[in-house]
Amino acid sequence: MAGIIYLDSNATTAVDPAVRAAMLPFLGEHFGNPSSPYTLARGSAAALVRAREQVARLIDATPEEIIFTSCGTESNNAALRAMADADPRRRHLVLSRVEHASVLNYGKHLENNGFSVTWLEVDRSGQISLDALRAAVTDETAGVSVMAANNETGILLPIRDAASIAREHGALFHTDAVQAAGKVPVSARGWGVDFLSLSGHKFHAAKGVGVLYIRKGAPFSPCMIGGEQESGRRGGTENVASIAGMGVAAELGAKSLGVMAIQVRALRDHLEQAISHRIPDVFVVGRNAPRLPNTSLLLLGGVESEALLALLDMDGICCSSGSACASGAHEPSQVLAAMGLSGGVARAVLRVSLSRHSPVAEIDSAVAAIAGHVERLRARK
Ligand code: PLP
Repeated sequence: MAGIIYLDSNATTAVDPAVRAAMLPFLGEHFGNPSSPYTLARGSAAALVRAREQVARLIDATPEEIIFTSCGTESNNAALRAMADADPRRRHLVLSRVEHASVLNYGKHLENNGFSVTWLEVDRSGQISLDALRAAVTDETAGVSVMAANNETGILLPIRDAASIAREHGALFHTDAVQAAGKVPVSARGWGVDFLSLSGHKFHAAKGVGVLYIRKGAPFSPCMIGGEQESGRRGGTENVASIAGMGVAAELGAKSLGVMAIQVRALRDHLEQAISHRIPDVFVVGRNAPRLPNTSLLLLGGVESEALLALLDMDGICCSSGSACASGAHEPSQVLAAMGLSGGVARAVLRVSLSRHSPVAEIDSAVAAIAGHVERLRARK
């Protein structure tokens, strides 16, 4: 959109033109149901086969281990449900405190239904402690869920080590890799996870399409009970157009990892340096911690993020506060609260998240706008 500087790629990304082109035939003449037996449907069925292979390659899995879902939320719910259902003797789960709402709230739902949940705390930089995880997992633990990358801070969590701790106790392991895919290498096999979730719209595919990786041999009870689609693991006619597009997005995401690691990281680092140079009293969350190359969470002491975001919006700049705004009330984010940041500090945050489509030429004018508004908002106090 002309005049817009989009810096909120952890919220969603624009559909890549190649992804859109791959979707269009299935919104037109190739409308057959992939489960139908006749020629018209073959294109749809072939599109699913191809996309499954493309997604599998992105996350180092086999195509048989991939099922398509409606979103990251569904994938996370389905994984937690599968872990909870796997063994009636195991009624305990371990979930990190900084998970997305689709894990946190499903965990609370299970807690209300007879499961006990150990909520794994994080330190000031948003990192879990493997020792704490080791202490939490027991032979009664059904499953552990730790996200690969946090959506607000961009912090990367130690999935391979965490999965191995779960395995030592025979517990299943799920990782929400929604924010990691297409930004950093993801390896379901190398990490040794049982379940892994993705969401298409975070890596330049359409909204409303997701993936659940289910390790071959992992116990799985479907969440969507219906027909035999997805080898009986998820009922419902597949969203063929979005899935075909997501396959292309996965391929482009795998090819762009170098661009993310070098160009996008350099742009993010430039933005952080420029902001820190122009604005006094700025803190970059997790600056020296392992984190996504595209994400910057800034603490801008003395500024209400809501007011800052509204001013930036008037300039056509889209950023986020990383906080949940529930029914008009500005609630400090649960992630920041878990990191021990509360009150005014947690309400003075700005999340900037980039992608390979971010406008390099406009970053400096975005920095100037942010600096100008921060200065004026601070002066009003
Ligand atoms: N998990 C993480 C880490 C996310 O950031 C999001 C979306 O913001 C989701 C899950 C949910 O994905 P979806 O929007 O596809 O339901």
